[in-house]
Amino acid sequence: MAGMLYLVPTPIGNLGDISKRCRETLEQADFIAAEDTRVTLKLLNHLGIKKSLVSYYEHNKAAKGNVILDRILAGESCALVSDAGSPAISDPGEDLVKQCAEAGITVCAIPGPCAVITALSISGQSTGRFCFEGFLSTAKKSRREHLEALVGETRTMVFYEAPHKLMSTLEDMATAFGSDRPISLCRELTKLHEEVVRTTLGEAITRYTEQPPKGEFVLVVAGAPEVQKETATAEDAAARVAELVASGISRKDAIKQTAQELQLPKNVVYDAALRDK
Ligand code: SAM
Repeated sequence: MAGMLYLVPTPIGNLGDISKRCRETLEQADFIAAEDTRVTLKLLNHLGIKKSLVSYYEHNKAAKGNVILDRILAGESCALVSDAGSPAISDPGEDLVKQCAEAGITVCAIPGPCAVITALSISGQSTGRFCFEGFLSTAKKSRREHLEALVGETRTMVFYEAPHKLMSTLEDMATAFGSDRPISLCRELTKLHEEVVRTTLGEAITRYTEQPPKGEFVLVVAGAPEVQKETATAEDAAARVAELVASGISRKDAIKQTAQELQLPKNVVYDAALRDK
């Protein structure tokens, strides 16, 4: 009988955020796969849990994934943790989940701390529709291409960022989105110095030029304003029908074509053309 993979979120700053269910899963799992075993060992010591650890991180995940998979297939249960937050979200784990799903292994995700959701919920930006963009590339060209592709994005956009890259990211964002675009910079979430700066890209650049950024950041950027589609009026419709008729098209076809072109109901175009006769 195959075992299971549990995705266990861990605190992003405040140790009190570990849930009862996460603690129990760590206790009951046969082994724990951890991004950095030293970081996880500290957490386990804090929780008073002793458990065998396997390292699973970006640069060994191809080989270690198979080892973990074999152990689960042999009947063991594995709890996957990352350094902080939800495993598989901009963290190693995505590939292991895919591998397990393909092998028919049950994957159980326990809800818990996650920087993207924590930041979004206190950002003060619209939360109804959002997209998570993860980390931007460190390479200037691909970072700019990524931002260019988001110029027309109307949903709220969430990015992870390291403090030493914050200034160049803000500058590239201001170039792509304009310096008036609202942004909420969510820093050191759940920690003693938690701070949310709700401002614009231009003002954020000024602020962090004067006071160099420190700590971990999530950037929540407002989407582009919705472009209002111009709606054609009955006068526009009547004028277009007259133009087409004058060019030799039958009235019936002119009405049909005008309705398509101006995206108006055919009866509205018909009435407008009739009034104009
Ligand atoms: N999987 C984790 C999650 O979703 O919570 C995120 C891991 S990712 C490698 C680390 C990034 O998450 C940081 O660079 C930062 O952007 C964000 N982050 C993590 N903890 C944070 C905190 N306490 N405050 C602000 N941002 C944080």
